[in-house]
Amino acid sequence: MSVIVCSYGEIHLKGANRGYFLRTLMQNIRQALPEGVKATVKDTRILVTDFTDAKPVVNCLKKVFGLTHIRVCASVNYQTPADILNYLGQVKLNGTFKVVINRADKNFPLKSPVFAPQCGDVILKNNPQAKVDVQNPDTVVQVEIRHNGLAFVSTGCERGLGGLPVGVSGRAICLISGGIDSPVAAFMAMKRGLAVDFVHFTTPPYTSELALQKVISLCEQVNTFGNHGNLYVVPFTEIGSQIQKQCHDQYTITLMRRFMIALAEKIGVAHQADCIFTGENLAQVASQTIQGITSNNFVAQKLPILRPLICFDKDEIVHLAKQIGTYEISILPYEDCCTVFVPSHPTIKPNLAAVLAEEKKLDFDTLVDNCYNAIICKRLPNTSAESFNKPQK
Ligand code: ATP
Ligand code: MG
Repeated sequence: MSVIVCSYGEIHLKGANRGYFLRTLMQNIRQALPEGVKATVKDTRILVTDFTDAKPVVNCLKKVFGLTHIRVCASVNYQTPADILNYLGQVKLNGTFKVVINRADKNFPLKSPVFAPQCGDVILKNNPQAKVDVQNPDTVVQVEIRHNGLAFVSTGCERGLGGLPVGVSGRAICLISGGIDSPVAAFMAMKRGLAVDFVHFTTPPYTSELALQKVISLCEQVNTFGNHGNLYVVPFTEIGSQIQKQCHDQYTITLMRRFMIALAEKIGVAHQADCIFTGENLAQVASQTIQGITSNNFVAQKLPILRPLICFDKDEIVHLAKQIGTYEISILPYEDCCTVFVPSHPTIKPNLAAVLAEEKKLDFDTLVDNCYNAIICKRLPNTSAESFNKPQK
């Protein structure tokens, strides 16, 4: 009988919180699995059973944060070590291999250094073309001896995503543009256990319905990693126009970013978010210098702003975006809300006092409140009904 055995790494270290982390992980796994497939915790492993084809089930598990290793195993009942050797005598493999014994049951009569060569011998008998290579084998045959006469035998191992179960660290509100960076930032937030809601700023009629669709697709793709976030769409045209009309154009982008943070914080606070995430990256563009970032930080009073990509190189971000399936969506050529307002010479190192002086030309709070009242909440296909909320006043 086949069973998928999953390990969950870092959760072991969580002391008093381990129960909560594990319960959340199990809930996330069950939501990710196809109907009818079961998952149970056994000792320090998660066992997934009741499937016909392992491959699609493994693919689902590879999208669950918190799992480190995923192995499709044969589940072998034994009374003596000979029963395990009997099973190994039928294993077929090519190339080089090594046997790794994991003896959770310390009462198993043979110690690993004795049992491993015996296992290797029976495999070699059945596969005379195979060779043992303990340094760099093509196949690792793992024999995990559990308690109560049960062993799991695997000939392959997939890496899980690692990280922590989505939800254990709280909630984040993530500013998502149509670009490459911010979906990766949302993914990184989820990796450390945050459930993510998204906020996107549009400037109709300058930005199109297709540009919004692209952002919806990005959120949906990020949500496939066990997130159930909402997308808050913020119509930002009035704020952009007022900044353009009343303030010096070298501060347009800096001021727009400050309004964005203020609105994201307001949405976040109304929805019990614990922090704000952005895809900002140091010195990538004019608005992302230390001074630009400082100017954004001074808007948020209640929530910290976290920037997981701050020190990444662009090619590292692109690599991650490709891995998580957002890159191909991000490069679709639709306009971003800021591009319509972007000046030819934005200030690269905005001085905070000068920014605040420019901002004084506007009625910041009224603009934020009016904009907030026009927010639309998009329910994404896998948003659970309970987590779907309209912006609260
Ligand atoms: P990205 O690839 O994420 O768009 P970028 O390299 O284009 O980033 P900027 O356009 O300067 O950089 O944006 C910096 C960050 O500000 C983005 O990562 C995102 O978090 C936020 N942001 C920018 N534009 C928007 C928008 N229209 N809606 C929501 N957030 C935005
Ligand atoms: Mg952008």
